[in-house]
Amino acid sequence: MPTERVLLQAEGFGVDYDSTPILADIALSVHAGEVVALIGASGSGKSALLRALLGLSPATAQTRGLLRFAQADGGLRERRDITPLRGATIGFVPQDPQTALSAHRTVAQHLDEVLATHAPGSTRPMRAEQAAALLTSVGLTGELLPRYPHALSGGQGQRVLVALALAGNPAILLADEPTSALDPRATHELLALLQAQARVQRRGVLIVSHDLSATAHAADRVAVLAGGRLVEIGATAAVLSQPQHPLTAALMAACPPLTPPRPARLAEAPRPAPCARVARACAFAATCGRAQSVCAETPPAWRTIAGREVACHWPLGAA
Ligand code: SF4
Repeated sequence: MPTERVLLQAEGFGVDYDSTPILADIALSVHAGEVVALIGASGSGKSALLRALLGLSPATAQTRGLLRFAQADGGLRERRDITPLRGATIGFVPQDPQTALSAHRTVAQHLDEVLATHAPGSTRPMRAEQAAALLTSVGLTGELLPRYPHALSGGQGQRVLVALALAGNPAILLADEPTSALDPRATHELLALLQAQARVQRRGVLIVSHDLSATAHAADRVAVLAGGRLVEIGATAAVLSQPQHPLTAALMAACPPLTPPRPARLAEAPRPAPCARVARACAFAATCGRAQSVCAETPPAWRTIAGREVACHWPLGAA
């Protein structure tokens, strides 16, 4: 989506926890009308990145580099204090409805509270009308308004979370593992909903997930995070059909079969290893079958191969 408006942009972005680097050199953008899947194994740093994008890093965290968000006037501004943007500019879709929603409050009460936050002068009947419209916009009906979370299916609960995230009419939706508890049909429907929010409403959507196969096919671009750094970014079809970074291939190997089929060189792929801090060079130098001495000494530079960006000294497409 190179011609679309940029809604979220990180450049040289990094985060330290107690002077320990957790994320480094993050360069990522999300455009209007675009779905980007941020894929990473456990310990890759994706949760730390999501927290940073939401302005929810620990109070002692230090950030580096640029982080810009679209503003109401159409501009793109660097933000240090993201808190005021949550809800109106950034909509957050949490992972699990049963923990994100209060068990003692109905769907109507959850929606009413969020809508009142965004429109302090609104009346309860006005908000009730808006709540029903929000449910309709995520493919649900007003019949769910009196229900408590335990009376919702997994797919319904996740859609309610999307409706809550949309209450402030945000420019960007950040979704944290939104399909992790859903069956295949509900997964497909939820991803179609998020895709429609991008295509029809021209929002930017960033889906953070460990599951390449479940989420990537709904994305326009895939960004792979490993060891606190991005290692491969490109159009979904290109990345899935021919991954260039050994870690991307390993993530594909860990997933159920994909269409197109898995690549042929999986034996060369390193196992994704949990990483508590950013490595000095490549985080997989100790386990990667393609590693050479330079891999443990120098961070790999970005290069363009087969239509995507990859940071690896010896990518799979190299001779
Ligand atoms: S930089 Fe070296 S160790 Fe790291 S993934 Fe590439 S080949 Fe393997």
